[in-house]
Amino acid sequence: MIQDLQDLLDVEQQEMMRSRAFQPRSTNDYDYTNYHTLDEIYSFIDMLVQENPKLVSKVVIGQSYERRPLNVLKFSTGANRHGIWIDTGIHSREWVTQASGTWFAKKIVNDYGRNAALTAILDKFDIFLEIVTNPDGYDYTHKTDRMWRKTRRPNPGSTCVGVDPNRNWNASFGGPGSSNDPCSQIYHGPYAHSEPEVKAIVDFVKSHGKLKAFVSIHSYSQMLLYPYGYTRTPCKDQAELHRVAGKAINALQRPYGTSYRYGSVIEVIYQASGGTIDWTYDQGIKYSYTFELRDSGRYGFILPANQIVPTARETWLALIMIMKHAKNNLLKQQLGSVNTGPAGRR
Ligand SMILES: [Zn+2]
Repeated sequence: MIQDLQDLLDVEQQEMMRSRAFQPRSTNDYDYTNYHTLDEIYSFIDMLVQENPKLVSKVVIGQSYERRPLNVLKFSTGANRHGIWIDTGIHSREWVTQASGTWFAKKIVNDYGRNAALTAILDKFDIFLEIVTNPDGYDYTHKTDRMWRKTRRPNPGSTCVGVDPNRNWNASFGGPGSSNDPCSQIYHGPYAHSEPEVKAIVDFVKSHGKLKAFVSIHSYSQMLLYPYGYTRTPCKDQAELHRVAGKAINALQRPYGTSYRYGSVIEVIYQASGGTIDWTYDQGIKYSYTFELRDSGRYGFILPANQIVPTARETWLALIMIMKHAKNNLLKQQLGSVNTGPAGRR
């Protein structure tokens, strides 16, 4: 419970206004220490692509309910690669996530060819990054209600708007930990993948077919979570996912000592049906993780802007650890398939 929410919101607004007086002409000028509107983030995306045409492109995977483009940044250094997916902002009020996503994008172009770990990852994988996964909701958090979480589709027969896009996936859809009440914050929607913002990712994942890691980033609570949310039955890779999460959290804690908990969604946070990573895991994407970024409740969704860069920086170390592990696993698989091919059989 925040006693002085309006004070925090006023400070946040003033900081954004101050930052907006200055229009960045390149991604070097962009103010990573502040929150930005949807238009500002969309211009950032276009600038980054323009500045790095060989490494970065923009893939529009669909349209939101209010017909905004669903922009995904693709970082690629070769054809026919396996893929790693990262999304931020599927819940629109979790502003530190979209801000971190923007920082990650710039970090990738800065580090490629300079940082050995990231370079090795990009030599093996394309990275797909959707910064504003719920653009209608994000715009609404700026213009009308800072605490808006859901999509912005009207619900027939109800005055309440929107669906929880993290309960809308076809993984025990409609089960415990989701609601059939359109006014609920965890309303699952009329049917699985009803939300265009969710359906666009579903179609992308299926048509790509070679994603090896899928990381969906939320705030707040300081947790790193893996499947399942809909059942207490451990997923078949639980031991490995737990070990990798532990390494990722060790790396995350190094710069600022931020403490994280990790485990399955249902064990660490709560039971939730229809969640993103349960669906991606059941599609065969083994390294399916969800982050809950800073903080642990002091500021909650209204995290002060001076924590954006530290949050992004520590999270990036954990992401590198997960991506590195996915890369090593892929290399092992590729070697294995050479050794067990027909000619190698004894
Ligand atoms: Zn969330």
